[in-house]
Amino acid sequence: MRVCAYCKSPGPLTREEIFPKFLSEKVGYTTFVDQTRDGAVFGPVTVRDVCSQCNGVRLSELDNYVASLYRDYFSKPVDAPVDILFQYNYHLLTRWLLKAFYNSARARRGNGPSRDLFEKNVPYILGERDDPCIPTLVSVGVTTSSVASETEKALGMPSVFHPFVHKFGDLGFCGSRVADAVVLSQFLSINSFSFIFVGFSDVIEAPDRAEITKGLNEVWLSKVAVKRA
Ligand SMILES: [Zn+2]
Repeated sequence: MRVCAYCKSPGPLTREEIFPKFLSEKVGYTTFVDQTRDGAVFGPVTVRDVCSQCNGVRLSELDNYVASLYRDYFSKPVDAPVDILFQYNYHLLTRWLLKAFYNSARARRGNGPSRDLFEKNVPYILGERDDPCIPTLVSVGVTTSSVASETEKALGMPSVFHPFVHKFGDLGFCGSRVADAVVLSQFLSINSFSFIFVGFSDVIEAPDRAEITKGLNEVWLSKVAVKRA
C-alpha cells in the first residue's frame, strides 16, 4: 500500500509540485527541463505521494515562509556592487530546502542522492525535531545582473540580463577527504539567489568541517551579508 512520503499515513495522497506554485507562477512560465531525462522538457513536475495533512498544512507552512522571502529578496534583481543583508530563519529555510530536495529526489530518474538521508530528516522537515539528523551547512550567494555586449544588443537582446530561472542540482566534490566528509550536497537557485546545502558525515571533526565550510563559501563570486534568526 502506498503511504505518505512524510508521515507514512495511508492518505488520501495528493499531488505536490517540486517547485511550489508560487515560484513557477512568479516567473510567469512553468517549463521544467530535466537533465536526468536527457534534457526533456515538461510542465510542472509533481510527486503524488504526500497526504493532504502534510501537503496542505505542515509543508505549506514552509512554502509560505519561502514565499515571504521571495517577496522580500528573491523577486528583486541584484545589481553590483552587492549590498544585501539577508535576514532569515535558519530552520524554516533549511527545512524547506530539505523538503524541496527530497521531493526532487523522488521525482527524478537515474542516480541521485540516497533517499535514506531525506527520510531520516523527515521529523526535522515536519518540525517534530529541532535539528537535522546530520551536521549541516547552508551557504547563500547571489548572481548579479550583467550588461549585454554590443553584439547582444544589436541582436535585440535586453541591455541588462537578470537571472530569472530556478534550478536544482547535485553537487560533487573532488578530493577523497572532502568527498568522505560530505554525505549530501545539493544546489538550488531562485532567480539571483543560490543556496548550497551540505550535510556532513557525523564522524567528521569540527576543525575539518570548518575548513571545508570556508572552502565552500569561497565559491561565491558575489556574497551577501546574512543575519540568522
Ligand atoms: Zn503525510
